[in-house]
Amino acid sequence: MAEIETPHGFVSSGKKRAGRDDLDGGDDFVVLKKSKMSPAMAWEDPAALFAAARHEFGEHGGVNMSIEASATFTVMEPDTMRRMFSGELGPDRDFFIYSRHFNPTVLNLGRQMAALEGTEAAYCTASGMSAISSVLLQLCSSGGHVVASRTLYGGTHALLTHFLPRACNITTTFVDIGDLEMVKNALVEGKTKVMYFESLSNPTLTVANIPELSRIAHDKGVMVVVDNTFAPVVISPARLGADVVVHSISKFISGGADIIAGAVCGPASVVNSMMDLHQGALMLLGPTMNAKVAFELSERIPHLALRMKEHCHRALVFATRMKKLGLKVMYPGLEEHPQHQLFKSMVNKDYGFGGLVCLDMETEERANRLMHHLQNFSQFGFMAVSLGYYETLMSCSGSSTSSEMNAEEKELAGISPGLVRMSIGYIGTLEQKWSQFEKALSRMQDSGVLYKN
Ligand SMILES: *Cc1c(COP(=O)(O)O)cnc(C)c1O
Repeated sequence: MAEIETPHGFVSSGKKRAGRDDLDGGDDFVVLKKSKMSPAMAWEDPAALFAAARHEFGEHGGVNMSIEASATFTVMEPDTMRRMFSGELGPDRDFFIYSRHFNPTVLNLGRQMAALEGTEAAYCTASGMSAISSVLLQLCSSGGHVVASRTLYGGTHALLTHFLPRACNITTTFVDIGDLEMVKNALVEGKTKVMYFESLSNPTLTVANIPELSRIAHDKGVMVVVDNTFAPVVISPARLGADVVVHSISKFISGGADIIAGAVCGPASVVNSMMDLHQGALMLLGPTMNAKVAFELSERIPHLALRMKEHCHRALVFATRMKKLGLKVMYPGLEEHPQHQLFKSMVNKDYGFGGLVCLDMETEERANRLMHHLQNFSQFGFMAVSLGYYETLMSCSGSSTSSEMNAEEKELAGISPGLVRMSIGYIGTLEQKWSQFEKALSRMQDSGVLYKN
C-alpha cells in the first residue's frame, strides 16, 4: 500500500495490501501527522489546524473517504496475525485486526478530532459518556481519587458521585473551580489522579481558568481532563494546558441532533493505552463507534467552525438584547459576566463566546411558561434537552438535565429552579427569531409576572 503524495500535498491512502510490510511505519497509529502542518500556521486556530491535517480520499479517488464497513480484516500470511496481536504491526501500517479495536474510518475521524483540538491523538466512541467514563477508568485505578468541578453535566456528576465509588472504588471531591485554594487543598498528592472540569460548564456557563487549574494539577502530578462539549473550536483546552479533552460529539460537532457519539483527544500515550489489547478501557469495555456513523460525522466537521460562528453571533446578540429588556441573563460574552475577561483571554480569535445563553426566570413555573410561549405560541425554538442543533433548543435545567443533583448540590452549582438553558440555533434570520422571542415575552408580560424593578 502506499500513501500517495498528490500535487496538492494531500495524502491519498492507497488500497493495495501487497507490499505494505515494506513501509517503515514508525509513527504511532493515532498520531496526527504534525509534519503536514506548516510551522507558520496560527496554531491556535482550530479551522486552520483542521484544514492542514491529512485529507483522506476515497478508495477510487473519491473526494470523500471510503467507509470501511468491515468488522474483521484478512491477512495474506498466517504469521501476520501473530505479529498484529503482538503489537508489532498496527494501524499505522494499515494492519487492522477487528473493528472494536481500530477501524480505519473511525480512525480517520479521530485524526480530524485531534486536528481540531490540537492534540497528538484522538479516538472516537459511541457516546460522550463512554468517552468520559473510559478516560476516568483508564487514568484512575481502584482507590484512585478525582478532583472535579461542582458544576458538571448531570450524567458525569452521577458517574462520579454514585457509579464510580460503588463499582470501582474511585472517589471524587467536588470543588468550586473558581476557588483555586479550595482546588489546591482537595488535591491529594499520590492519590489524586485526575482533575476534571468543563471548559464552559453545563448549565451555568461558568468559565474554567484552564491555564491556572492545569498548573495547579501538574504541580501535584495530576492529569487534567476537560470536557469541551459546550465550546468546540471556540476554546482549545489542550493549547491552554489540559492533558486530555473529551467531547460529546452528539452536540455541536454533530449539529444534527441525530447521532450519539463522543471522543477522547489527548497525548498518543493516553489514547494508545486506551486501545491496549490487555489493559485498554476503550478496547475492553467496547463503546465502539460504528464506521458509518464516523463517516457521517466526518462530513460535518468541515463546517463546524462556520456553524459555531453563527451560533455564537446570535447568542451574543440575543443575550445583549435580553439584558437590555431587564431579563436576568447569563452569557460569558457579556461584559457583566463575572468571568468575561478570563473567557476573553482564553478563546480562539473570531469565533465568539459560545452558543448557549441562560435565562434565570427564578421559578420553575415562570421558566415553563416562557418556554411554552416560545415553542407553542411564537415558534422561537423547541423544548428539548441537548444543544448544538440548528433550531434553538431550550430546557429548564433543574428539572431536566441536572435533575440527578439534589437540591443542595444544585444550589452549590448555582442552578436556580427557574434556569432556562437555551442553545441558540441559526435557522431563519436573526431578526425573525428575535421577533419571535419578543412576541413570547410580551405574552409573559400580559400575565404580569415578568419584570421586577
Ligand atoms: C451531553 C453531554 C455529555 C454526554 O454526552 P452523550 O453524547 O450524551 O453521552 C457530556 N458532557 C456534556 C457537557 C454534555 O453536554
